[in-house]
Formats: sequence, C-alpha cells, structure tokens
Amino acid sequence: MGASTLLLTGNIDTIAQMSCNPAIGGQAKGQIVREIDALGGEMAINTDVTAIQFRLLNESKGPAVQAPRAQCDKKAYQFRLKHTLELQKNLQIFQTTVTGLIYAHGRVVGCRTNLDVEFFGRAVIITTGTFLRALMHVGQNKNEGGRLGDFSAKTLSGSLLEAGIELHRLKTGTPPRLLGRSLNFAGLQEQKGDREPTLFAFHDTREKDDLFHVEQPGETRLGWVPGREQASCWLTYTTSESERIVRDNLHLSAMYSGQITATGPRYCPSIEDKFVRFADKERHLLFLEPEGRNTNEYYINGLSTSLPFDIQVQLIHSIPGLENAVLLRPAYAVEYDFAQPTQLLPSLESRLMENLFFAGQINGTSGYEEAAAQGLVAGVNAALKARGEPPMVIRRHEGYIGVLIDDLTTKGTSEPYRMFTSRAEHRLLFNHGSAEGRFFEHSKKHNLLSTSRLVNIAKKYSSINTWVEFFENNNTAGGSWGDAIRRTNSPLELPQNFQQETKEVRDETIYRVRYRGYRLREQRQIERFKDNEKIRIPDHIDYLAIPSLRKEGAQKLHAARPATLADASRISGVSPSDVSILMIIIEAGRRSRRESSS
Ligand SMILES: Cc1cc2nc3c(=O)[nH]c(=O)nc-3n(C[C@H](O)[C@H](O)[C@H](O)COP(=O)(O)OP(=O)(O)OC[C@H]3O[C@@H](n4cnc5c(N)ncnc54)[C@H](O)[C@@H]3O)c2cc1C
Repeated sequence: MGASTLLLTGNIDTIAQMSCNPAIGGQAKGQIVREIDALGGEMAINTDVTAIQFRLLNESKGPAVQAPRAQCDKKAYQFRLKHTLELQKNLQIFQTTVTGLIYAHGRVVGCRTNLDVEFFGRAVIITTGTFLRALMHVGQNKNEGGRLGDFSAKTLSGSLLEAGIELHRLKTGTPPRLLGRSLNFAGLQEQKGDREPTLFAFHDTREKDDLFHVEQPGETRLGWVPGREQASCWLTYTTSESERIVRDNLHLSAMYSGQITATGPRYCPSIEDKFVRFADKERHLLFLEPEGRNTNEYYINGLSTSLPFDIQVQLIHSIPGLENAVLLRPAYAVEYDFAQPTQLLPSLESRLMENLFFAGQINGTSGYEEAAAQGLVAGVNAALKARGEPPMVIRRHEGYIGVLIDDLTTKGTSEPYRMFTSRAEHRLLFNHGSAEGRFFEHSKKHNLLSTSRLVNIAKKYSSINTWVEFFENNNTAGGSWGDAIRRTNSPLELPQNFQQETKEVRDETIYRVRYRGYRLREQRQIERFKDNEKIRIPDHIDYLAIPSLRKEGAQKLHAARPATLADASRISGVSPSDVSILMIIIEAGRRSRRESSS
C-alpha cells in the first residue's frame, strides 16, 4: 500500500517459522488461505512453492467444505518468506526485542526496545504470538520462552496493561519430533499426496511475473510444477499400552497436575485430553509427517503432550512403527498472555488506544492461517489509518476472514480460537474457488493486487457469469442445462467451448449452477441482514442504564460495544428482543435529534 513500514522481530531467522506442524490449510483454514491470496497476501503462493505434499480434504463431500491442505518444507517456507520481506519495497526489517510502547495523548506513538533505541510511527501493530510472558512446560520442568529455543517477551505485557488493555492466559502444545531413520516404516501405513494437487494461490489470474518473484535471476525454477515430487506421510495408532502409560502418569503432566491453569485448545487436544475426554475410543490416529526435503525430522501429528520427557519416550515406543524411535525434540506446552479481542474494533484497532492494532495469536487465536488473515487486515487498516482514511471492514457474509474477525471482536474467546466451517452461517457461499470474486471490491478499492491481476479476475468472473446465464437459459435434451447439471452427479457432456475454459472457471460455474437454490436463499438472508448493518449504534449509548434490556444482553453489549445493529445481533447472549429494544432506542434518539434541530 506504499506505507513506510518497519517490522521489528526478536529474531529475523524465525520470520514465518511454523511453531508446530509445517502444514498449511485444511478444514476452513484452506479457504482462509485462498481468501488471503485474493487480498494480496503471500501465504498461498509461499505454500505452493514450498509444499512437499498436497491433499484436498473432504473430496467426497460437497465443494463448500472441500479444503486444500499442504505439508510444507518448514525451512524453505520460512526462508522464502523472509526473502520476500527483504525484497519488499518500503519495508524495513530490524532485529530487536520490543520492551514497551510509547503513548501520548491517548494514542500510541512508538515503542521502546532492548537496545535502548526508540522507534516512532503513526500506527503500531502488535503480533507477539505466544511470546508474552511465555512459559514452556515439559512435565514439571519449566523454562521461559515462546517456543523451544526462543525467548520470552517479559515487559511488553506491563506496557499493555498500563494502557488499560485486559490480558489473560492461554496455553497450547506441540508433539515431539522424531528422527526419520529410527522409524520402522514397514509398521506404518503410507499416505501419498494427490496426483493432481489443488494449489492455494489463484495461478490462473496471475501474470508470470507474479509467480516465483522471490527467486533471484538465474535461480528461477524453469519448468518446475508445484506439486511434483511429493513426499509421503505415514499413519499409525496409539495402543492400549500407550493409554496405560498416559493414565498412569497423568499426575506428572503439566496440564493435569494443575501446574498450568490456562485454557488449552479444545479442538487440538493433547494426548492426555484424548484418553481422558474420549475414554470410549480404543485408539487414536497419529500421522508421521516429514518436516522438509533436506531433513530427516518427522512431526508426529496428534501426539501433543506436556508429560515429562522420560514418559514421552515410553509413550512413543508403545506405538507401532515407533518402537525404536529417537526423539529429536521433546513435546511441550506453552502458556502466554493474550489480549481479549472484544477490546478491538472490526478494523483490529484497539478501542482503548488509538493507532494501536493487534493481530494473530495475541488475539486469542490458534493457527497460522487465522494469524495471517488478521495480520493482513490489521496491516491494511494501519496503512489506511496513517493516511487518515476509513478502515477496510470485512463483513461476516463476505468470507471466513469476516467470520473470524466478527467472532473475535464481538464474542471474544476463553480458549484458543480456531476456524471451522460450522462457524460460518453462509459457508455455502465460501467455497475455496470463489475467494477472488468475494473479495474483489476490497482488493480493487485498496490496490491490494496488481492491475493486471485485477483485470484477469474481472475477466474470469465475466466468463463465469456468462456461463451461468447460458446454462440457466439454454436447453439440452429434456430441459435447461442448469436442471440437467443439478439432476445428475455424473459428468455431463458439456459444450465444447465451456470445456476449453480454465479449470477454475469451469469449477466455479458448475458450483454456482448446482447449488443455485441454496445460494439464492443465502443471498436473500444476507440482504435482509444488511439493513441492520446500516443501522449504526451511537458510541455514547449506556447499555447498563437501559432497564428494558435483559441483564445478560446489557452486559454483553457493554463489553463488546458493537458498531451496528447487525454486530449487536451476533453477540452470543444478546437476544432478538434486546436487538429490537436497541432499534427502538436508536430510532427514538434520531427522532428527538431531528425534532430539536427543526
Ligand atoms: C507450541 C505451539 C504449538 C502450536 N501448534 C499449532 C498447530 O498445530 N497448528 C496451528 O495452526 N497452529 C499452531 N500453533 C499456533 C501457531 O503457531 C500460531 O497461531 C501462529 O504462528 C501465530 O502467529 P503469530 O504471527 O501471531 O505469532 P508467532 O508465529 O508466534 O510469531 C510471533 C513473533 O513475534 C516475535 N516477538 C514476540 N514478542 C516480541 C517482542 N517483544 N519484540 C520483538 N519481537 C517479538 C517473535 O520473535 C515471533 O517471531 C502453535 C503454536 C505453538 C507455540
């Protein structure tokens, strides 16, 4: 966006380091990555270029819930993104630890660092992940750090508290890493990548120059096809012996012994949680996933734990294929501060301190994709704020990014928040292939994509719309093409020139035709809801002083301070009757202002 930007990081070498599994995408997260791509973010292209295995999840289910997933080369992912930042115009990167913020007149104006150098700017974005007052646990053993081998940011929390920002504790965990040559692959089940990979970036609307722009002259991988030479992942299961080991040692687990009191991710449970909460399950599925092409390190997906190291070794050895496995890194849990995201506006700017933005895990989320989406939105809005322009607000009906930000800013969270398709009421409109169309107006308005790409997207959607019209208004044997497409799941002999369109155009057209009825219903609901989006709630309203509001509704509204009536209606604990009362009060306020001015 042309804004002069400084990125401060505690360690330049860990830019874009994946703290846990080097995998991108999956359920709902894959759709988010495509949305990030549609808004000009780097995550999709970086994944395509560095992935070592691609799989389309839910392939047998409806396209709305199909999601691309990729296993990446951890180091390649990290270094390519670092290089992208190095080449980015107007961006300066500098390695130092931020120790506090500098405030003046109710605004943030800069930050202090451990080098005693201060930096000043018109907007500040905090993206500290799991690093604030971070404490790692391996059984009863504790070490400071946001990630194994990393530091803990000890003083920044104090500076946020000083500004009145409320902080709480959360925790997350990661499994051990194993040495590949110590695994018995004969005892594991192989899982290959898809023969035809589903990529994350919208390659068909990009110009050649948009691809691989990080590689230096002479290093371009001519003829390299993303998804070629894929690596395999491997499956195994826990045994009854694994369960016995875990149960016998629960009292030594940092989480179960009461040593960690912070809440962990419900949807990414530790192995202790799995055996306790899902006691009826005989065994638990585990995936062995390579961490890259130039390493023999394997990640064991599904076995995150905070048991002591010696118990971890016993546990690993109780699993088929891992009888002689050598641990390269232990599993651990990490506790950290997060800032309750109800303190943010939908632009991700703080409600309490002007020009201060928050993005990523500090907002209580878990996941690379959720973090990247917030980083993008906060970045765009910080630039707009610096220019004195109104923010880019992505609404709930536009995509998963809208749902994510709306959930965070209106409901807050008490456990690490991750995205699911079920969180999005309009998910039928959020199929991964439609992201460029859904976000076109935002990317055009804020120049988030190159002009040539914007032109290509417009052309693509013109083709899609033309074909949808054609199928609805032209007949084949026995009725319209549209009815024929909706009637059958088996491939139809579609017109020759349609088959010559790109796969993206064909897939999106067929999706729109096949789900036409459902899509129309969703769109009607959105239109109805949009009326409420237009009704703004005055900033000064005192919810606690409105006697007709239910107590819970008043308290939730007071905490979330929604911007519009639609925002108010989405807050859990705010009932439709609370919303109606608010509408009457807003209308009465408007009337009395009109009368007094006339
Ligand atoms: C142990 C563990 C397991 C996880 N498991 C998963 C998983 O399985 N799947 C998943 O999707 N997600 C997982 N996550 C979460 C995922 O890693 C994060 O949600 C995501 O990386 C958050 O991105 P972020 O940009 O907010 O922060 P991070 O990626 O944590 O980056 C924060 C950055 O801020 C820098 N920093 C922090 N404080 C300061 C300071 N004061 N001054 C300067 N620089 C500072 C750090 O150096 C770091 O580079 C896990 C995280 C951890 C730690």
